[in-house]
Amino acid sequence: MMNISDIVFDTYVICPLCKRKMRTLSGTHLKHKHGFSGMVEFKLEYGIPMSTALVARDIKETMHKHGKRRAKWFKENVMPKGIEQSKTAIGDMVPKELRMHSGRLRRGQSWIPEYISEMKQQGWLDLYDAATSLNIAYNYARKCATDGRLKVIHSKGLRFTKPEWVEDARKLLKENREKWRGGQ
Ligand SMILES: [Zn+2]
Repeated sequence: MMNISDIVFDTYVICPLCKRKMRTLSGTHLKHKHGFSGMVEFKLEYGIPMSTALVARDIKETMHKHGKRRAKWFKENVMPKGIEQSKTAIGDMVPKELRMHSGRLRRGQSWIPEYISEMKQQGWLDLYDAATSLNIAYNYARKCATDGRLKVIHSKGLRFTKPEWVEDARKLLKENREKWRGGQ
């Protein structure tokens, strides 16, 4: 689990994956640079409560001073749609269990580790397993899962794959590597 004080500072935030300093750690950055499906998946993965803002502290303080504007900004930028603000969100895209996640995490009662081991008992692999098996970086496994090179299922906001799909990805990655080498 990630300690917030290791990534959120007075004038910047550090992306735990690429160590880049930024004013805000955005869902866009996580998506494009690290292959996450978005902020929700990142926060789940790192055990960060959904309501925690990944922005420089001075930005948050300025926003505090601006009352309503801050609340609106906070809702739009910090709270992933469908989690804490699910009552007002259009549709109900996030399972109830996921919405409960934030509070449970704070109380150390998150269902996620248990759910992952349950899925593994049924033969599913998580992206860590896939990365290890494919001998690739975890970040790269996420990218593959996002762009479809590694087939995955989405379950309760988490991603799982199976041994056959990992084998498919292994073949595909090998082919691509050979193609790339052949073109040199
Ligand atoms: Zn990064």
